[in-house]
Amino acid sequence: MTMIQKPPRSPGSALPADPARPAGPGPHSPGRHESHAAVPLRDVHVRITDWFAESARDLPWREPSCSPWGILVSEVMLQQTPVVRVLPVWRDWLERWPSPAHLAAEPAGAAVRHWGRLGYPRRALRLHAAATAMVAGHHGEVPRTYEGLLSLPGVGTYTAAAVAAFAFGRRETVVDTNIRRVHARLFGGTALPAPALTAAETRRAVELLPDDDALSVRWNAGVMELGAVVCTARSPLCDACPVLDACAWVGAGRPAPDYVPKGQAWAGTDRQVRGAIVAVLRDADTPVPRSVLLEAPVDLGMGAGAVLVPDALSALHRLRAPAEQLDRALAGLLADGLAEEADGGLRLPG
Ligand code: SF4
Repeated sequence: MTMIQKPPRSPGSALPADPARPAGPGPHSPGRHESHAAVPLRDVHVRITDWFAESARDLPWREPSCSPWGILVSEVMLQQTPVVRVLPVWRDWLERWPSPAHLAAEPAGAAVRHWGRLGYPRRALRLHAAATAMVAGHHGEVPRTYEGLLSLPGVGTYTAAAVAAFAFGRRETVVDTNIRRVHARLFGGTALPAPALTAAETRRAVELLPDDDALSVRWNAGVMELGAVVCTARSPLCDACPVLDACAWVGAGRPAPDYVPKGQAWAGTDRQVRGAIVAVLRDADTPVPRSVLLEAPVDLGMGAGAVLVPDALSALHRLRAPAEQLDRALAGLLADGLAEEADGGLRLPG
């Protein structure tokens, strides 16, 4: 998923000339990859980046006015959560904490509290740690290079490449789930990429990247957007695809995938129980006694409304998680720093 400032539409249907590109195969040459119909890679670049200029969704982190911090926050939030759920939380975060320094001035628990229901709340802690490091070592600014970004706690190779590209216009190889899927179909002729990123895939992504900085940024963003809204995992909208005639997978007759992707189980998992516990802590003004988390309140049969139980606590107990799973989830949250013990109960980190 992701993010880049939406580029202005280039005049006509062609991209601006790319004088930097060598005529023949070079270190980042397009010459090594052509589509099944021998459509030159340069044409594929043009079609996808033109399509992106015309069709990209208007998203606030793509606005020219969005700060590198806003782009970094969006990248982290979007990694495992759909755009529609990210939008309100991202807006809340940027209003509340318009710079790394604003977030770093708050306790880590505030980041978790305002993470809402995006899931995987360790990401909130990672952003808080990154903000703290930017204040301590980068004058409160988002580092401008891949290496600088990668030096931040909790920032991995994908996020570093994406922010360097989309916030600072750098030529970086950005590889996320959507890009991998488009590359696999368009150039590899397979329905899905390998279950985990391979060295060959990374090499292909490097070789496909346009040499020109600006074009490379638009390529990364365009392929990512194509994977998000057209070349989707389950039902690709090939008739709306700007490179349909160049697609190796379509040309091969749309062969079925050779493995079944594992769905992300949710119901009954420790992750679901952890999320429900974090929701209780988020809504609580004071530490929540462990017994309240572990044991459902006794129904005294006094009718609806006789006992006021917070919604989040009711939701936790409706899961009917076994005691050992609750214990395990609590221990995991404490170990991960997503909860802490205080005054005989548990709360978000202070
Ligand atoms: S033609 Fe279909 S499968 Fe091929 S890249 Fe486009 S959307 Fe994906």
